[in-house]
Formats: sequence, structure tokens, C-alpha cells
Amino acid sequence: MNRNYIAGEWVASAAGAANINPSNTNDVVGDFARASVGEAEAAIAAAYDAFPAWSRSGIQQRHDILKKIGDEIIARKDELGHLLSREEGKTLPEGIGEVTRAGQIFQFFAGETLRLAGDKLASVRPNVDVEITREPIGVVGLITPWNFPIAIPAWKIAPALAYGNCVVFKPAELVPGSAHALAEIIARAGVPAGVFNLVMGKGSVVGEALLKSPKIAAISFTGSVATGRKVAQACIESNPMKKMQLEMGGKNPMVVLDDADMKVAVECAVNGAFFSTGQRCTASSRLIVTDGIHDRFVDAVTERLKGLVVDDALKAGTHIGPVVDQSQLDQDLSYVRLGREEGAKLAFGGELLNRATPGFYLSPALFTDVDNGMRIAREEIFGPVATVTRVKSYDEALSAANDTPFGLSAGICTTSLKYASHFKRNSEAGMVMVNLPTAGVDYHVPFGGRKGSSYGPREQGRYAEEFYTTVKTAYSFDGA
Ligand code: NAD
Repeated sequence: MNRNYIAGEWVASAAGAANINPSNTNDVVGDFARASVGEAEAAIAAAYDAFPAWSRSGIQQRHDILKKIGDEIIARKDELGHLLSREEGKTLPEGIGEVTRAGQIFQFFAGETLRLAGDKLASVRPNVDVEITREPIGVVGLITPWNFPIAIPAWKIAPALAYGNCVVFKPAELVPGSAHALAEIIARAGVPAGVFNLVMGKGSVVGEALLKSPKIAAISFTGSVATGRKVAQACIESNPMKKMQLEMGGKNPMVVLDDADMKVAVECAVNGAFFSTGQRCTASSRLIVTDGIHDRFVDAVTERLKGLVVDDALKAGTHIGPVVDQSQLDQDLSYVRLGREEGAKLAFGGELLNRATPGFYLSPALFTDVDNGMRIAREEIFGPVATVTRVKSYDEALSAANDTPFGLSAGICTTSLKYASHFKRNSEAGMVMVNLPTAGVDYHVPFGGRKGSSYGPREQGRYAEEFYTTVKTAYSFDGA
């Protein structure tokens, strides 16, 4: 498996690295490629050479390829879900769910290839027509994080290919297994050589090679704000400048009002904050709760947390899998310490757990008495750690929800149409949920945020065409 997919061939990589199961660090999932700059450049050159023919390929061909990829992913969802959960640590149902979604995304974009539309307008000049069309942009570099090992690659690769671009895909170092399996499926689906390439390796090596190459026209990146900033700078400095799309961190508020349905609010909070081990950019990591329901809500959430099983991701009955690796676990624990130092009260969890196998097990941590100015309420932790901030009124809740450097997702639990409507209109987030967890979105509609969470056009749904195509305005005079 120590290989990359370049120019239609599986090519042995000069180096490799072990892929470790976070539920059982004795379990090596496999040895996967760590590509060199040279290997990345070979992939970029292959994609560049393949672009002229692929950009003019027929939409039926692209449709059929994408449909085939989607169908195979869904047919193999259990096996691929097992691999995903084994290498990333989300529970098996979560892993299978993510794989299913990846398949649906390919199927959706198979349909989109047949729906690409343009505009034809009258000119302001007599006997002149104006046509506005969308064309592919060229070679796109796709850089993805570890927390959605197949869904995020799918929602970048599928539209890239659908709209006639060539791809160099660099997955996160921690989850090469899912990327490799996805590339095998794509390779089998009839994609011409060079159109899709997989180069696995470090961000500082493969990622930077993509950012530096003048043959790459655009970068779609999902990851942390710190890396996103570097990506943006490199895209601007490159000549020609690259088009870019950055999806980054979140610190998503979930407001709970006095009139909320308690059962709904507790489910939204627990699911949104702690499922997938809290390792979601859309996680409800800030719970903002009004006075009248606060104590009952905290008690109910704490009771629910006591009943959750933190264990091996592949074990039946596990609700929360392990943290992805030692360095993320250290980060989570350091924020648990920081929360105490800042004066917040640890109402539940935040402890290392021993299980039958050595893994990165952490009990879900709930902090109360949290001021929205504390670092645990402002910085993305990216683990099973949530804060509760008490507020006096809806207005105070809305202002705390918006008082953040991020703007990805935001939620409110209320039975009041007035507050729900007001929140939808006034939340400074790209995605707003009413009586639903902040995490968990549909695959056929736009995904993305505002402020420090996102930069550039939206991903997913038909809005994806904004990034993966470039607009041409053509004028013609009929000579009359
Ligand atoms: P990360 O920024 O460490 O890495 C993301 C990717 O960038 C990886 O493939 C990595 O190898 C690559 N990379 C690292 N340094 C690079 C460099 N110098 N040049 C080019 N590429 C480089 O992020 P992560 O730890 O993998 O993922 C967690 C982060 O992702 C969190 O902040 C989370 O919120 C964010 N995320 C955002 C979304 C979203 O859609 N907004 C979705 C999922 C995850």
C-alpha cells in the first residue's frame, strides 16, 4: 500500500509510514506512502498534461464515471466504514454513515455534470449576442484534514472532476487508508490517466509542492486556521495567483432558551458537542443557556453523558470513540487544565480512560460557569470538550453566540417561532440550525462559514460550481 497513484499508475513511494489505530495502538492499519517533492511534481505534471483532453470530455462520460464511483462506494459502505473507523476512531455507525455520504456526493455530482447551465443575453449593442458560460479552471490541488477521511475528499474530488478539472489529491497524514481505498475506486471507474492523482505525505512536503507549483490553478483546502493562512499566502504569492477555497475551524454556539423542549435540547447538545469525539469543525462546543433552564439542562446533559460508552470505535455499543492521536489528546487535556485555571467548573469528564486495548480514550468534558471571554470559549479545541455559558436573555444569548472569531455553524433550541426566526436572520454563521445539532448537514446544499471559518466560495451542492469553474463572457456580432 506504500504507493501513490500518478498518471494512471500505482507508483511505489520512496518512503512510507505506519498508520496506527487510535482505539488500539498495537494495531497497525498499514504502511502508507510518504511522497517526496519529486513524486508530487510528477503527479502535478501528469494532471497538467491530462487537462486539455479532460476539459473537453463529454458530460455523459463524466456522469458515468462519477456514478460508478458513487455506486461502488455505497455498495462497499460496511467494509470502507470499518477501515475509516479503524484509522480515524469515529464509531462504526459514524464511519459507515460517512462513507454512505461520500457515495451520495459522487452520485449527486454525476447528475450535476448534466445540468451545467449558462446564460444567453441580448447585448446593449444591436445585433450582438452575449453568452455566459462556465469552464473548468485547470489542475486543482485538494488538501484535506483527518476528521472526515472520505466525505471531505469526496466533496472536493467529485465536483472537481464533474466540471472538467484535473486533480492532485493530498489527504491528511493520519488517514491514508481511506484515501487509498477511494483512489482505487476512482482508478477503476474509467478516469483517463493523469486526470486524478493521489499523493500521500506531509503537508510541509507534498502540500507545499502543490502550493508552489505554477501548474496548479486552484487550491481547495480544509483544515486548521493556522495552515489555512499559510495556504492563502502561498496562493497569493504564486505566479499566476491561485484561486482558493479555505474551510477552517469553528467554535460553534448552541443556544438553549428557557422554552426549549428539554429532550431535544439535550440530544442536540450531546450529539453536536461529543459525537465523533467532538472532532468536527461544526461541533457545538459552546452551549449558551438562559437562566431559567440552565441548571436543569446541565443536570440532564450530565446524566446523559454518564450513560455514554467511550470505547473502541469498532465495538458494538460504543457511543464515543478515541481521540485521533496523542498530539490531539495532549491538546484536549491542556484545554481541560486551562479551563480549570481560568476558573470554569468541570461538571463532568475530561479524564483519561483505560480500556481493554491501549488507545487515546478521554471522557467527554463539560465545563460550566464559563465566561465567553475565556480561552476555552474562544479557541477551537477539536475534542470532546464543551463549555456552558449562562445568560439572562435571548438578546444576551445571540450576542454571545456571535461574539467569536469563527462563523461556521450555529444553533438554537427553542419552541418560539419568534426567537427561531430572529436567530436565523441574525446569526453570524454560514449555517444555522433550529432544534437540530450544529453538526450533521445535508450533502446536496452549500456548506461553509463566515469570519475566521471560511474563505472563498462555498463547497457542496450546486454552489460548488462557483469554485470549480471559471466564467467566460463571449460576445458575437452577426455582421448585419
Ligand atoms: P491541519 O491544518 O493540520 O491539516 C490539514 C491539511 O493541511 C493536512 O492534509 C495537512 O497535511 C496539510 N498541511 C499542513 N501543513 C501544510 C502546509 N504548510 N502546506 C500545505 N498543506 C499543509 O488540520 P487537521 O488537524 O488535519 O484538521 C483539523 C482542522 O480542520 C480543524 O481546525 C477543523 O476545524 C478543520 N476542519 C474544517 C472543516 C470545514 O469544512 N470548515 C471540516 C473539517 C475539519
